[in-house]
Order: sequence, then structure tokens, then C-alpha cells
Amino acid sequence: KPKPKVVPEGPQRVPGVDHIIAVASGKGGVGKSTVSANLACALAAKGRRVGLLDADVHGPSQPRMLGVSDRPTSPDGKVLLPVHNHDVTMMSIGLLANENQALLWRGSRLVGGLQQMLMDVQWGALDCLIVDLPPGTGDVSMSLTEKAKLDGAIIVSTPQDVALLDARRAIDMFNQLDVPVLGMIENMSAHVCSNCGQEEHIFGHGGVKAEAEGLGVPLLAEIPLHLDIRLASDGGAPIVVTKPDSPQAQAFQQVARDL
Ligand code: ADP
Repeated sequence: KPKPKVVPEGPQRVPGVDHIIAVASGKGGVGKSTVSANLACALAAKGRRVGLLDADVHGPSQPRMLGVSDRPTSPDGKVLLPVHNHDVTMMSIGLLANENQALLWRGSRLVGGLQQMLMDVQWGALDCLIVDLPPGTGDVSMSLTEKAKLDGAIIVSTPQDVALLDARRAIDMFNQLDVPVLGMIENMSAHVCSNCGQEEHIFGHGGVKAEAEGLGVPLLAEIPLHLDIRLASDGGAPIVVTKPDSPQAQAFQQVARDL
């Protein structure tokens, strides 16, 4: 009698990839993609072999942040070849659709498409793959977490209560799925005036630190709201690439150092 084929269950490793780290947030617009792009580039600058998967189906922003627009190619109709910039190997759901075209994938097609992106992309040998998840705790985040063996998750939040509440839900999801939460990052922590350098706490201050303490997870960084961070991202090269010696870049570099 032929033996039944053993289908591996539970989260699987991605071939060639040593570590997978997810960057998540409870809600959109808090800087999750900015953090993902800067972490990836900061790790690459340290000589690590880094990949970045942009799985943010609702607003894939990595093509813009990393300054790439080439369409990924598939030589055999099965594997997908990723694109490269700033020494980062990248694949984005935004490269498969036109930037202005709303992504029409839904439900199981969406979930299947993303799992495929993770598994069928020829990442090559990577020390670390950063996954920029969609905000919240929806189907895509859940299914990717179930499919791929994540080594850790970083939660990005602004200091505002509403963003924190959503962040708590995201942490809860990772706890339930047995993914270690590496820590939280407070983004838009203080606004630093690009003229006079004065600091102002537009979204409050210290909220994420208190939350992280309460939940027993590390606070990895407090990143200021700074014009240069936005300008760099919009220009296709994250601040750790354009101004690696600035204090704004150092906040990201420090997180990358500890990863
Ligand atoms: P998310 O991925 O959580 O939706 P993004 O990373 O796309 O958020 O950030 C939303 C917008 O805010 C972008 O235009 C980005 O350039 C800007 N932004 C994010 N973090 C900062 C920051 N620390 N300082 C200045 N602008 C920021």
C-alpha cells in the first residue's frame, strides 16, 4: 500500500530565509511601512542579506519608499523574481498591480496570493526577511502568521490612545499564534521642528512606553515625527540611506542593531 503523502502542518520555513520578522500595527497610517523600510535598509547597511515583503494589501507603499517600479518577472510562470534597491531584496503586492489601480483581490484569492508571494518568490539566501503586514488583525495577517514560521513581531504605534488600543489587539493576536513579540516602537513620538529643532509632542508622549511596560514587552525605540523622514521615504530612499548620521536615522539603526 502506498504511504500517504505527508503534508507538513503548521507554520513553515521559507526556503533560504533564516529569520522572518513581521512589522505590524493596530491601525493604518502610524508608520509601519516607514519602520519596515528603514529597518530593512539599516540591516542591509550592516552587511546583512535582507528581504522585504510588502504584504500591506490596502496600501502597498514599499515600491515608493524603496524607489522601485520594475515589474517582477517570472521566467517559468511559477517562481517570481524579486526586485532590488538599496541592497534590499523586495517584493510588493503593489508591484503586481498598477500603483493607481485598487487591488481587487478579495477573500481567499487575497490570502492565497499573499501566501504564494511569500513562498514562491525567489528570495535567495537571506539572513532576515522583514514582512510589512497590513494594519490590524485581519485575514491576511492571520493567515501569513499561520503559514510562515515568524521569528518575531514588532508593533508600531503612535502615542495616541486609539492607536494603542488597536496595537494591544495586534499583540494579542501574535500571543495567540505563538509568535514572540520583540517589542513596540513609538512612532511620531515628538515633532522636531526642522527650522529651530524645538520638540513638541503632537500625539502625546510616553503612551507606548507605559503600554509596553504594562504588557511586559520591550520599548525598542521612540521615533520623532520629522519632515526629513517623510521626504526621504517619498523620494524613494529611506532616511537611514539618505541621512545615515542624523539623529532621526539613529533611532532606526539602533533597533536594527539589536535585532
Ligand atoms: P503605515 O504603513 O502605518 O500606514 P506609513 O509608514 O505609510 O504608515 O506612514 C504614513 C505617512 O506618514 C507616510 O507619508 C510617511 O512618510 C509618514 N511618516 C511616517 N512616520 C513618520 C515620521 N516619523 N516622521 C515623518 N513622517 C512620517
